[in-house]
Amino acid sequence: MRARSGGEGAAEATAPESDTGSAVRGRRASDAAEAPRVVVLAGGVGGAKFTVGVRAAARRRWPDGTGGTRAELTVIANTGDDLWLSGLRLQPDVDSMLYALAGVNDTTRGWGRTGESERVAAELHAWGAGWPWFTLGDLDLGAHIARTGWLRDGATPTEVVARLASRWPLGVTLLPMTDAEVDTHVLTAQGRMHFQEWWTRHRATVPAQGFDNPGIERATPARGVCEALAAADVVLFAPSNPVVSLGPILAVPGIAAAVRATPGRVVGVSPIIAGSPVRGMADACLAAVGIPATADAVGRHYGARSAGGLLDAWLIADEDAALAPGLAAAGLPTAVRPLWMRDLDAASALAGDALDAALAPHSR
Ligand code: GDP
Ligand code: CA
Repeated sequence: MRARSGGEGAAEATAPESDTGSAVRGRRASDAAEAPRVVVLAGGVGGAKFTVGVRAAARRRWPDGTGGTRAELTVIANTGDDLWLSGLRLQPDVDSMLYALAGVNDTTRGWGRTGESERVAAELHAWGAGWPWFTLGDLDLGAHIARTGWLRDGATPTEVVARLASRWPLGVTLLPMTDAEVDTHVLTAQGRMHFQEWWTRHRATVPAQGFDNPGIERATPARGVCEALAAADVVLFAPSNPVVSLGPILAVPGIAAAVRATPGRVVGVSPIIAGSPVRGMADACLAAVGIPATADAVGRHYGARSAGGLLDAWLIADEDAALAPGLAAAGLPTAVRPLWMRDLDAASALAGDALDAALAPHSR
């Protein structure tokens, strides 16, 4: 079920008469401009920052009169980061998204819950359980225990995510990319390891030869994913890690095809600014799959929809303005904008630019 953004449920019914009237009398560029259906593909912390910006921009542009928005926002979250640990199912990217949208994320530390404590983790370490280099906060553990319990009771991962999301009025429909367990593995000279071991324990310093999601060729998109893409006015690629965040989403059979077939415009935001991944170690992931850590290489990796790729437009940073003509010449319309999500205002301005790139009058 699609929740109307704003989470208030009655947004459609309570849309002011005057809005409906002006919609009938004089539409702007398109129906979509009145209150679009927006789908965001996103990973964890970076994706969440952007998505909170999309929600803020939508509330400003298409207000529903109760603090929410008439736009419909759907997030397709990466589940490649998921893992089993001490008998619990963890979904780090889903939870980063959940906590950020709920406003309970720790913005100082940059991940996890605010006001977190680690008493249970200390006990687990004393027992020698789990991974000593992977600390679980007590509040965070609450989510993992709830999730694992519901999974054991027979709920699907999609149902579990909906249940977790129902705790707060997020204003978006949050969907995992798939219900299948397709955890990302990293192939290294030392052998295969879980992505979390490579990323958190080794800080991506063990040279990676590639990434793999065992079983993903048999996975299907979670319920609602292809439906949202088929009904979208706008599809946004968050500036998430192209390899281990958006990579697994697009590798679920059917999702990339649904992006190619969407009636909406598809706009991506570069996670690389001036040759740097801004925060984190995305450059190590890109290097492993032979993509230079530049805004144009990542744009070309996704490719122009007009040439069989995924994007109708690509946003790169002011710092990378010199790359725009080459991208445009390669068939990928490129806009140059400030891409630093320093705070909510900056993230919301960036999201507004991405929405503009999607909704501005255009010819395909
Ligand atoms: P993760 O799953 O928590 O690693 O988060 P994501 O994959 O969703 O996003 C991480 C990526 O976001 C990083 O690799 C950066 O390239 C990108 N990123 C982080 N902060 C910013 C920012 O302020 N602007 C842009 N354009 N990209 C950013
Ligand atoms: Ca992640």
